[in-house]
Amino acid sequence: MEPNIGNIAFDPERYKLCAQRMVLDAGVTLYTNSFLTGCVCEDNVIRQVIIENKNGAEAIESKIFIDATGDADLANSAHVPMQPMNGASLQPLSTYFILQGVDTSSPMIQEAMHHSKQGENCHCLPVREKLLEMMKTQEMPNFGGPWFCTLLRDGAVTVNMTRTTANACDNRDYARAECQLREDVFTLADLLRKTFPEFKNARVASVAVQAGIRETRRIVGVHTVTGEEYVNAVHYEDSVSHGIHPIDIHSSNQGEQYTYFLKQPAYVPYRALIAPDYPNLLVAGRCLSADRQAFASLRVQGSCMDMGQAAGAAAAQCAASGSPVQKADVPELIAHLKALGAKL
Ligand SMILES: Cc1cc2nc3c(=O)[nH]c(=O)nc-3n(C[C@H](O)[C@H](O)[C@H](O)COP(=O)(O)OP(=O)(O)OC[C@H]3O[C@@H](n4cnc5c(N)ncnc54)[C@H](O)[C@@H]3O)c2cc1C
Repeated sequence: MEPNIGNIAFDPERYKLCAQRMVLDAGVTLYTNSFLTGCVCEDNVIRQVIIENKNGAEAIESKIFIDATGDADLANSAHVPMQPMNGASLQPLSTYFILQGVDTSSPMIQEAMHHSKQGENCHCLPVREKLLEMMKTQEMPNFGGPWFCTLLRDGAVTVNMTRTTANACDNRDYARAECQLREDVFTLADLLRKTFPEFKNARVASVAVQAGIRETRRIVGVHTVTGEEYVNAVHYEDSVSHGIHPIDIHSSNQGEQYTYFLKQPAYVPYRALIAPDYPNLLVAGRCLSADRQAFASLRVQGSCMDMGQAAGAAAAQCAASGSPVQKADVPELIAHLKALGAKL
């Protein structure tokens, strides 16, 4: 049986409400609208993180810290070694937008919105081919896909299409890229409206608050997941996450993409979430320890959620036992994750 790549459509506004309820129900103290600006770290032990918000600068102490910033901001400020990066070949940024007034009942959009096909890139081919043809004779923004996703309501789609190269960890470069992408959103929306009957009444309903970041810093962990391990579905004694998204590398400066569909689900070991010499730091999500190939699958939401659950469970265990994260009781951690429903 072919593995189910399991793409799930959702309403982003309901999702936010659901996430908010979950953290509040769990008794989490929220520091929304705060920015982590650094940490106090002694002999590789993080004592405090420093955040800035309307209250001013605040220091937060904890036994264990989890860096889930996507860009490994905390690990970076604690001087954790990072995977080698070449700014020019980072995967591109893309600003998502929502189009309203789309003929979502049309066969082309219906087909494009269906995203769970194993072995097939689910971009909207008729639109892609037409735009590539037009690109030969007229100037237009670089684009990828496009991918149109349902918002579970008639007439609206999310559009994943814009793209530009930038280092999102460089403030000025990121600002430049965001401004360009915002321009591109409106240019591309106009092109869609003028060129395809399915979009003739479409208008931009909203633009993502930030340009989406595919790739930035990743730590050098106790173990680095490699592409070879990943495509061969190597199972580790400390596997804490299980994913099936294709290896999905978007080209840094063209609209091209390398996609490799996994034959079987792959694993992430706990050791990819910890650095060798930092006893109270875990990472989750995009900043895990992986090479470019493995990372290009692991960067998706399902895998990031899995890693977040594993990091959270490990942090709770180590905080209770007083153990450094390198000495976590892995069998107990795995049993805990399985009891929570993880498929390991
Ligand atoms: C254009 C695009 C399309 C994608 N399409 C898909 C898709 O179809 N399906 C899929 O599953 N995945 C997709 N992904 C990938 C996926 O969305 C991300 O890789 C994933 O959400 C990363 O999760 P994360 O938790 O590591 O980081 P994030 O989701 O980026 O979360 C990090 C959080 O930390 C916050 N933060 C960062 N730095 C600081 C700081 N210094 N202080 C305070 N807060 C901070 C950020 O604001 C953010 O809220 C896509 C990504 C892009 C860019």
